[in-house]
Amino acid sequence: MRQQTKRTQHLVAMELIALPAVRKLSSLVVTVLGMNPGRMTLQGTNTYLVGSGSSRILIDTGAGKAEYLDHLKGALASAGVKRLSHVLLSHHHADHVGGLQDVLALAARMDPNGHAPQIWKHEKHPLAEALDNPSVLEGLSVGFLKEGMRFATEDASCTVRTIYAPGHTDDHCCFFLEEEQALFSGDAILGQGTAVITDLKSYLSTLRALQKGDAMFKVIHPAHGPPLDDPAAAFESRSAGLMKVAFVPGRETSTWRR
Ligand SMILES: [Zn+2]
Repeated sequence: MRQQTKRTQHLVAMELIALPAVRKLSSLVVTVLGMNPGRMTLQGTNTYLVGSGSSRILIDTGAGKAEYLDHLKGALASAGVKRLSHVLLSHHHADHVGGLQDVLALAARMDPNGHAPQIWKHEKHPLAEALDNPSVLEGLSVGFLKEGMRFATEDASCTVRTIYAPGHTDDHCCFFLEEEQALFSGDAILGQGTAVITDLKSYLSTLRALQKGDAMFKVIHPAHGPPLDDPAAAFESRSAGLMKVAFVPGRETSTWRR
């Protein structure tokens, strides 16, 4: 218990960088904040609209907060987006999939006669079990993400490649935007501090695999916290933070915010 108290004090002491609700990060990336700040979600869950033109890819859907949907709607309107082609989900946690129902309803209102977005997630922890209302998936296309799977926007403005990256959870995937060499790291690498880990062995090999490819990454867009424009330094500090706590006997492997 004493350890827990110390840890909580550490969490409270850490300052979070303020993030705007909607921010254009590049010509191909707009981020919309999930408006769900908290101890485990930092400033809230970042979701990402990827591509240019009237059809985009959405990475993650937030926690299902009404304010998020308003901001997403505004971001889509100001970018002239008419439809979402794909919704890519990094993993099954509620702060990433909780907004799916609202996002699908919004997509249907935007494009009533068109196709609903295709939904993609790794096959472990099926989406039907992760959602409060799985009936929302009826009649929709839900595909399983696999390592190397690529998604392109309709105007071919971008290609997003799937990187299977277990450790935070065993269904966790990252996404790589080839045109900007940007890594959407989900909860595997956070913008501030280090991730919560359910399987240390898997997490270490994920971190090593990402680290090997760091020359390929120019920027990391995490699911929580600000973008990281020095990926090599980010990998290094996450590894160092992990080592610091992972081998302290009796302490949980979670290294959240260290
Ligand atoms: Zn998570």
